[in-house]
Amino acid sequence: MDFNTSLSHSAQCLKQAIPLLVKYKIPVTPINYAIWYCYVLGSNLALNVELDNILAEHGTCPASLSRYLFDKYLSDKDLELFHQISENFQGTLDNVQSEIDTTLACSQSFNSVLLQCRSDISALDKSDISSFDNVLNFVDKLTEESVIMQQTAHSFQVKLQAAYSEISELKQALVNTQEAAITDPLTGLLNRGKFDDDIKAHIKTFNSELQISKTLIFIDIDHFKQFNDDFGHQKGDDVLKVVANKISRHCINKANAYRFGGEEFCILANFKSVSEALNFCQSIRQDIEKLSVKGKKTGKSIRNITASFGIAFYGSKQCKDEFIARADKALYLAKAHGRNRVEIAPAI
Ligand code: GH3
Ligand code: MG
Ligand code: MG
Repeated sequence: MDFNTSLSHSAQCLKQAIPLLVKYKIPVTPINYAIWYCYVLGSNLALNVELDNILAEHGTCPASLSRYLFDKYLSDKDLELFHQISENFQGTLDNVQSEIDTTLACSQSFNSVLLQCRSDISALDKSDISSFDNVLNFVDKLTEESVIMQQTAHSFQVKLQAAYSEISELKQALVNTQEAAITDPLTGLLNRGKFDDDIKAHIKTFNSELQISKTLIFIDIDHFKQFNDDFGHQKGDDVLKVVANKISRHCINKANAYRFGGEEFCILANFKSVSEALNFCQSIRQDIEKLSVKGKKTGKSIRNITASFGIAFYGSKQCKDEFIARADKALYLAKAHGRNRVEIAPAI
């Protein structure tokens, strides 16, 4: 691997590599750093092709395959760069630390000069005319010391400001990549990966003694394929966006809404009763029903938009796949019973 690049360029590549590690849920280890750094650098086409294939197949790069890629394309020598960058970061921290030490030392010396002057002034013989000269000397000395103090404090402030901006930028970049990793880019809803994580947590908190129903709702746009066929894929995407928008508005502070895939959405929520869940779904369904595709020239509605809903309430000792299958079954019933309606999965 050619590491014949400047350190700042290396840091730049690492900044690009880290979001990818976050996105594919790959642990930040020196080996993974090295592989993804090389990937971002694009210096070894064969590595990039092989890694792309692994990602397509697994959706991530499992540890065993990381080791395999590392052994095939890189060497322990390549890890040196990452140690170097890590040392550099440590160096920056040391610099901030030493700035703090310098400023502290300066303020302590200013303090002791102040204390000294205070005791010297109180010891002066106020009736002696030469005391005036002594006081003037003290004022001179204090002025000098306070200028030094101000300069040190100013330089410290400038350095802190720079460190603050750099850290804020990095933090924002991390927040952005973390958000991107769980968000569906078309609709802005949470994505399938997030759903897979959340549903496990959702059913884990199930407690049969509490009067709360752990609920899963599936929503599927009716005859969606027809929108694509009749008005084009772009219009189809617009329909997905407006429907997702309606769903997410109803979920604020109440539930989590996800794009499950294609024209299917799902919601994880807690309800106190069956009727509460039913009313919730009916109000979303009615809001979607008010939407329509409008003609370009006339601006008039040319196709109604509707969606079908399937609700399942979690039953104890059920695995997540069974829970999902029950909500899916309820959705299937809603389709079979004429669409634009809500069905509830039978209790188990
Ligand atoms: P049903 O009422 O039974 O649900 O019928 P449907 O037409 O909605 O269902 P079907 O499964 O036959 O078609 C879903 C279509 O959704 C097929 C696929 O091309 C389209 N689709 C999936 N993802 C997207 C997307 O991101 N954008 C667009 N425009 N279309 C998509
Ligand atoms: Mg579907
Ligand atoms: Mg559909």
